[in-house]
Order: sequence, then C-alpha cells, then structure tokens
Amino acid sequence: MINFYNFTIEALKKYLIESGFKAFSADQLYKWVYEQKVTNFDDMTNISKDLREFLKQNIEISNLEIHSVSESTDGTFKYLFKLQDGNLIEAVLMTYDYGKSVCVTSQVGCNMGCSFCASGLLRKTRDLEIHEIVRQITTIEAEQDIKVTHTVVMGTGEPFDNYQNVIDFIKVINYKHGLQIGSRHITVSTCGIIPRIYDYAKETIKSNLAISLHAPNDRLRTRIMRINKSFPLKEVIEACNDYFDQTSRRITFEYILLRGVNDSLQHADELSNLIRGMNAYVNIIPYNEVEEFTYKKTDKARASAFYMQLTKRGINATLRREQGADIDAACGQLRYKKELE
Ligand code: SAH
Repeated sequence: MINFYNFTIEALKKYLIESGFKAFSADQLYKWVYEQKVTNFDDMTNISKDLREFLKQNIEISNLEIHSVSESTDGTFKYLFKLQDGNLIEAVLMTYDYGKSVCVTSQVGCNMGCSFCASGLLRKTRDLEIHEIVRQITTIEAEQDIKVTHTVVMGTGEPFDNYQNVIDFIKVINYKHGLQIGSRHITVSTCGIIPRIYDYAKETIKSNLAISLHAPNDRLRTRIMRINKSFPLKEVIEACNDYFDQTSRRITFEYILLRGVNDSLQHADELSNLIRGMNAYVNIIPYNEVEEFTYKKTDKARASAFYMQLTKRGINATLRREQGADIDAACGQLRYKKELE
C-alpha cells in the first residue's frame, strides 16, 4: 500500500494517469483528504466507482500512531510518534499569538554530530518519508482539533541531508488544497550544507531559511560543529547571500549561547562583522543543557549583554524565550529516551 500523504499534487496526477485514470481527480482527492478530512474512499462522492475501488486496493490514509504526549506548563505539547517500523520520532506544537506552529522531525536520529545537541546522540537510522513528515502535522491537527498555521523543520535531523523529501513535504503542506500553510510560514533550519542552500534558493516555493551559526569564526565553529570542516563559514555566508539574491527573504541566524564558549562581547563583535549588511537577523537561543555534555547555559544578564552588543553594532537580533524545557521539548532536546526502546 502507498500512503496518500506521500503524494505531492504532481506525483498524484502522474500516478493516476499511469494507472489509467484522469489527472483532474488528484485535486478532488486532495480536497477530500486535506480539506474535508475524509479518509474513507467510499465517502468521496464525486470520485468514480472504478477509481474508488482502485484506490481502496492501493492507497491507505491514516495518521501516525501516537506513542505519548506531554504538555508543558507553558502550553507546549511534545508528541512522540511510533512509526510503522518501530522507530520513534518527536514533534512539538507551540502556541503563539499569531497561530499554531509545529516543529517537525526530518530524520530518525542525526549524523551531523554537533557537540552540544542531544539529537546527535542517536546516529541517523534513516531518512523520514514524505508522508511521515506530513503526518506529524495532520496527526496533531486531528488530535487537538486545530489548524496548524506555521511549520519549522527544526526537530531531530538535518533537513538538507534528506533534501528531496523535505522539499516535497513543503509542496504538500503549502498546496492550496493541501494543508495551506503559507510559504512565509514555513522555515527550514540547516547546520549549513552549502550545495543544498543553493538548491533551496532555486525552489519554486520560497520558504524561509534559518542557519545554525552558533560561532562567529571557523576555529570555534569547527570545534563545536564538525560540519564546519567541510562547509566553512565564509562559504556559508556566500550561499546565504545567494539565497537572499534569489528570494529576497530575510535569513535567520540561530545562535545558541554556551557559557564561556561563544558568549563574550568579543564574539558578539565578531558576529556583527561577519553578517553586517546582510538582510538577516540573529535569533539568540538559550542553550538547553544536555545531561551527557558539559556545556552550560549563559546566564540572563550575560545573554542580554550579548544581545545589546549586537544591537549596538546595528545587527537585528531577538532573544528567544524558551518553551517546553520542562518536558524536554526545547531546541536540541529532541530524542527519545533510552527507556522507550
Ligand atoms: N539540523 C538542523 C535542524 C535541527 S536543530 C540545524 O542544525 O539547524 C534546531 C536548532 O536547535 C539548531 O539551531 C540547533 O543547533 C539547535 N540546538 C541543538 N541543540 C540545542 C540545545 N541543547 N539547546 C538549544 N538549541 C539547540
């Protein structure tokens, strides 16, 4: 059986034609599934009987199995899903005044090996299929009876290490008869896989780009993020400039503050020099401490000083408020705990 949520609209049209049916049914099917939430082919009254029978034999429509849900005191929810092959993945639902945002996972585990991140403690087992990323959202929407308005690909995994599936996922959720999440409400975060940044800039759907920077020079960045050896900072910045030229979209630089490692005023100055003149802003993220690592978070006063220093140097920055830390749902905490294996 093929999962319905795996089809972009183009792929569904192609599949229907190759199976001897008409392409126009693709939009009808999308509307039934994504807009009407109908999952039984027999209820799809404008679909011919022949096609319904064919679909029943070949396609399944179902949400993910929820293994468990935790709710934070701040209203953040963490979902743990069990995939068909037994792998467990997490997604996080956050509520803002502007809407509901889901942070989705793109891979089972991660191979990037950033020295501060819990996700990397579990090596990548496999990439997620398109439907496994889409269904993180549809399952949460169904369970909470809500409409998700924003999506960030910032859960476990490196989205640009599962490039095509992430792009197709974006096509599905952005489509006018799909989940209808606007391109400006979709953000992909990468540790800096340069060739894919150039590819991303050329995609027809212009969604947002966030770069996990975390250090203002190569020496320090290579020490904490080994991907920097292959893809050094200067070239990451060049790729970002290309993305901006192609899309006119403002870039987000994520910068976690690690006490005594990357959080001094000199680091802030260096960071200002690195990105000066770019249409970008720095999202300063409090570090969520991870048991297995020795990194500590920067205290509030020092974090504010770092923020002020960037602002003084003319750099747009925000100091992100932390959400969901009490349920291990905050950035870099996503991984299923060993006892669940
Ligand atoms: N692989 C992608 C997306 C997943 S990580 C990337 O690297 O961007 C999402 C963000 O959380 C990244 O900026 C990552 O560096 C950051 N992060 C990882 N561990 C963290 C931690 N313990 N505390 C705060 N942020 C963390």
